Amino acid sequence: MTTADDLADRVRDGELRIHELEEHADHDTAAEARQLVVERETGVDLETIADYSFPAAEAEPNIENMIGAAQVPMGVVGPATVDGGAADGEYYLPLATTEGALLASVNRGLSVIDVAGGATARVTKSGMTRAPVFRVDGVAEAAETVEWVGENFETLREAAEATTSHGELLGVEPYVVGDSVYLRFAYDTKDAMGMNMATIATGEACEVVERETPASLVALSGNLCSDKKPAAINAVEGRGRSVTADVVIPGDLVEDRLHTTAEAIAEANTRKNLTGSAKAGALGFNAHAANVVAAAFLATGQDEAQVVEAANTITTMDTREPDSDDPDAPSDLYASVSLASLEVGTVGGGTKLPTQVEALEILGLRGGGDPAGSNADALAEVIAVGALAGELSLLGALSSRHLASAHEELGR
Ligand code: NAP
Repeated sequence: MTTADDLADRVRDGELRIHELEEHADHDTAAEARQLVVERETGVDLETIADYSFPAAEAEPNIENMIGAAQVPMGVVGPATVDGGAADGEYYLPLATTEGALLASVNRGLSVIDVAGGATARVTKSGMTRAPVFRVDGVAEAAETVEWVGENFETLREAAEATTSHGELLGVEPYVVGDSVYLRFAYDTKDAMGMNMATIATGEACEVVERETPASLVALSGNLCSDKKPAAINAVEGRGRSVTADVVIPGDLVEDRLHTTAEAIAEANTRKNLTGSAKAGALGFNAHAANVVAAAFLATGQDEAQVVEAANTITTMDTREPDSDDPDAPSDLYASVSLASLEVGTVGGGTKLPTQVEALEILGLRGGGDPAGSNADALAEVIAVGALAGELSLLGALSSRHLASAHEELGR
């Protein structure tokens, strides 16, 4: 039987390369051999990295050259009380992070939301996009291609949907830049985040476009998709799930639990999240939505690079007339977050890894939903409510500190 030691020796002797080890041993032995190679070459003890608790073979679709696992601490916040289009009830949200105080802060926000009666959340748009770029001779051929695409959606849909039993082509939006034509394909990918699904389906549709028009495919992704890069198109048109969550917090609850007022929070939101972000030329008009999204992504097996897209969240905070006969009652606080492009799935990708399976099971959202797509919708809604809680808590903290210093200065 081939041992990890043998394999490591063969790598050292130049007989094998580190990516070839699975061809000569099972996945755990291959990972151990790679640990030995790295330990011998760097002198670093990999005791903790090597101490992973799932069969390495289960991670095969997710990683190459595996040496172990990066163990990021995971906690839960909640319950998050959600009245959603798909989510309904109370959810413990698992979050993995190395940022101390994040879970405490989100938990505080969720507790305020819970006492206020829960948050409302809805997925208002869904569509995973892939935008191939084609070369044409010039504007006339570009126009001919765009016209053909406009008249032949059914042909493109048939080609694309032949590759998937779940995905549905929703639309193809053309963009022309000189002699380049971009076709932004959007799919309902149900419970999958859908990037592989959309890419494979678009590849088929591109063959039809090349056959029927003067356009030649240059790249299956032409960056108008736009994946893993900050891009206004995702903030405006959406990508993955566009999800909004909101809540009205009674004024006395704002005072008792957040130690501030609706007016102070609304002012902090306007000056910081809206005006400050505008001045900075930011795409995201929020305090730290990416914090909750990133931690939820790590815990539940999402593609963590897509936190970039979720960072374009817009947070609004406004005062509302209190629902009270008392003329001195403090104003209520209306708070919302709108995540234009939250790319999540409950099947496929990293959601199949044992750690992440357990995290999705905590939420009761593992695997395909009934109807298909409802689990991923619910996950998007719960994450949005988590982000709302994070915004409330941080803005509350900022404005209560501001109030405290203002009180000090004013001597009252
Ligand atoms: P996937 O791992 O390819 O799995 C999705 C597949 O699960 C679907 O194609 C579908 O098969 C099947 N499925 C079963 N039940 C389903 C349900 N209820 N709803 C939807 N699908 C269901 O994952 P993906 O979400 O398409 O892509 C995510 C992966 O793509 C991640 O690993 C990510 O890192 C990676 N990624 C890829 C690219 C790229 O350009 N290729 C870019 C960024 C990220 P059928 O289609 O046969 O129905």
